[in-house]
Amino acid sequence: MKDNLEKLLRNALSELSEVGSEEGLHEVRVKYLGKKGLLTQVMKGLGALPAEERPLVGQQANTVKERIEAQLDTVLQDLKKSRTEERLKSERIDVSLPGRRRPMGTRHPITLVIDDIVDIFAGLGFQVEEGPEIEMDYYNFEALNIPKDHPARDMQDTFFISDSVVLRTHTSPVQIRTMLRQPPPVRIIAPGTVYRCDSDATHSPMFHQIEGLLVDTGITFGDLKGILTNFVNQYFGSGTGVRLRPSFFPFTEPSAEVDIACVMCKGKGCRICKNTGWLEVLGAGMVDPEVFRHVSYDAEKVSGFAFGMGIERIAMLRYGISDMRLLFENDVRFLSQF
Ligand SMILES: [Zn+2]
Repeated sequence: MKDNLEKLLRNALSELSEVGSEEGLHEVRVKYLGKKGLLTQVMKGLGALPAEERPLVGQQANTVKERIEAQLDTVLQDLKKSRTEERLKSERIDVSLPGRRRPMGTRHPITLVIDDIVDIFAGLGFQVEEGPEIEMDYYNFEALNIPKDHPARDMQDTFFISDSVVLRTHTSPVQIRTMLRQPPPVRIIAPGTVYRCDSDATHSPMFHQIEGLLVDTGITFGDLKGILTNFVNQYFGSGTGVRLRPSFFPFTEPSAEVDIACVMCKGKGCRICKNTGWLEVLGAGMVDPEVFRHVSYDAEKVSGFAFGMGIERIAMLRYGISDMRLLFENDVRFLSQF
C-alpha cells in the first residue's frame, strides 16, 4: 500500500512536469483526484486495511494528496505566468514611438480680415451688429430705397426664397434693422455672409461684406473721408493713397467709390491694378434721406454715412491670392499658410 502511494505520487509529479496547458492540467487533476481518480480509489480502499495500519496509511494518502494539489497549483501559476509573458512580448508597446499629432488649426483668411477690420473700427468707436442671412425683401431692398421696379435690382442677382423673402444680397439691411431698433446716434460695423447668383474666378455665390454706418448730428462727407482714410492707413499701411470717385448707390447720396493706391506696385501700375495704380476697395456715401424716412429718423436733424466692402477682395489684396475660389475650397495646404 505504501509503495503504491509512493509510485502514484511519482507518476503524478512526472505527468505534471510535462503538462503544457491548463486543459492538460485538468486531465491530470481528474485522473488522480477526481471522484473516480486513482488516489480517491486508494482512499476508498482504506476501510479494507487492518485497523492498526489505517491511521498511518491514511496519513500518508493525505500527504500524497496535498503534494499533488500543491504541485497542481504550482504548475497552474507557472502556466499563467508564461501566458502573461507571451502576451506582453507580443503586445509590447514601443513607448519611443511618436504619438498621434492633432494638426493645429489656423484661422481662415476671411476670418482674419474680418477680425482685423472689426478691430480697427472698434478702436474708432464702432459696435459690431449682425443680421439674418435670410432677409425680408423690405429690409434688403425697399427700405434701402430700392423699390420693386427700381433698375438697381438688376444690379444684384438675387436668390429669392419667396416674393418677399431673399438671401440677403448685401449687409446693408443691418443698417435698417439697427436704425429701426434705436434712435440716433448710431455707430456700427456689420460683417457677414451675403449671396448673389454669380460664380467665376472673381465672383462666388456666397461671399462676405462688412458694412459701416455712422449717424449723428452734423456728420459730413468730410467725416466719411476722414474715417475711411484712417481705416485704410491702419489696414494697408500709413501713407497709402486714398481717392474718392463719384458713383451711385440707391441708399446713399452723394455716393463714392473709394480707391486705394495699389498695394502691389505702390501706384506705379501692374497687372493687379490693370496699370491704373489704383484699386477699388469700398463703396460709400451719405445716407439718403429716403432711407432715414423708412426708419423714422429726421433727416433735417441728423445725417450720416455708410460704407461697405467685399471681404474676399480685401483678403485677395492683403494676402496676394489670385483666385477667389481658393478661399472656399477649404484646402488645408492653402489655409495653413495664413
Ligand atoms: Zn498695381
